[in-house]
Amino acid sequence: MELRCVECGRLHPPALLYACEACGGILEVMGESGLAVPASVRGMWRHGAHLGITDASAIVSLEEGDTPLHVASRAAAAIPGFRGMLWVKDETRNPTGSFKDRLVSAAISKARELGAKGVVCASSGNAGASVAAYAARAGMPAIIVVPAHTPDGKMTQIAAYGARLLKMPGHYSRSYDLAMALARRNGFANLTTTFLNPWAVDALKLVGLELMQQLEGQAPTHVLVPTGSGPLVKGVVQGFAEFGGGAVPRAVAVQAAGCAPIVRAFEQGAGEVEAWDAPNTIASGISDPLIGYAGDGTYTLRLVRQTGGVAVAVEDEEIRAAMRLLAQQEGLYAEPTGASPIAALAKLLAEGAIPPDARVVCLMTGHGFKDAALWRSMPADAHEVADLAAAEALLGATVSGA
Ligand SMILES: [Zn+2]
Repeated sequence: MELRCVECGRLHPPALLYACEACGGILEVMGESGLAVPASVRGMWRHGAHLGITDASAIVSLEEGDTPLHVASRAAAAIPGFRGMLWVKDETRNPTGSFKDRLVSAAISKARELGAKGVVCASSGNAGASVAAYAARAGMPAIIVVPAHTPDGKMTQIAAYGARLLKMPGHYSRSYDLAMALARRNGFANLTTTFLNPWAVDALKLVGLELMQQLEGQAPTHVLVPTGSGPLVKGVVQGFAEFGGGAVPRAVAVQAAGCAPIVRAFEQGAGEVEAWDAPNTIASGISDPLIGYAGDGTYTLRLVRQTGGVAVAVEDEEIRAAMRLLAQQEGLYAEPTGASPIAALAKLLAEGAIPPDARVVCLMTGHGFKDAALWRSMPADAHEVADLAAAEALLGATVSGA
């Protein structure tokens, strides 16, 4: 196994490396471990032979991955003009409630295999909760850096696992810089889940593999992915390319209108993504301005274009509507970022950018529990009742009919 630079192609030995030593480009894992996996293993490590970890005793797992793929026909029927098939890949079913567990399980296992004594992670919340949980399970110290305005639910979860939680004022990219410096200073592995850690990103190709298996080889036409810097876009594209017999769906990168650096470049036909100045959105999971690492966005933009896909921005109000749609039509409880692909689907259908008969997979990346405060701000059919009489008065004849 080796690490390869996606820009200049230079090869590096398998180590805790975060950028190409020649050009600073993104590194990716080349080759597979061929790890022998017992038949009793469940979750993504069933496919451990395709990952880069060679020492099975280093694996840190909470049985992540192998998440359900729900047919969402009621949600599909509620989206105007849609006559195709809609599936929701429910990544909230991962151990800490988001898809980040896939990256973190792979990266912390590799960090342990390579002898790391501790881990650091910059996070908008979900990756931090995941790193905190897996570090606890591994018995490793963890330092998590989050923007100070991160939703309470996410910070509470991080602290619960016993990690050291640092709240940094300002946008996500400032936390990113601090984590980088702390990793260097302490000699800890950096598990930040942008494109920084190739061992983490590599595990996301298994999302594509799972989708192929769950759809019995019938690739979808479009996969809609909530997108900050974009590792999940790479995972889906790479997974279908490697395991899908060449049928790669169109990758749709979904961003929030209040933080949409990749969409802006896509719409302008630009070759390079530029950082976003001042992120402002309820979708905390994709509120990443890419300041200092806009090249990550450029790489993702290239992948989107290679598949014939699009990058699309959705307003916070459209995200709120999508959250209610998933919850009330399908019983699926998502945080804003997790519902953003549904908002994007409605928009792209209305614009004619996705045909009405498309076969669409939406990735629901994070759990509604993560952002209870946002959900509390939504309209609800909830009432205080003191006794039966009050309940009957409220509900009318539906209860008192006898
Ligand atoms: Zn390079």
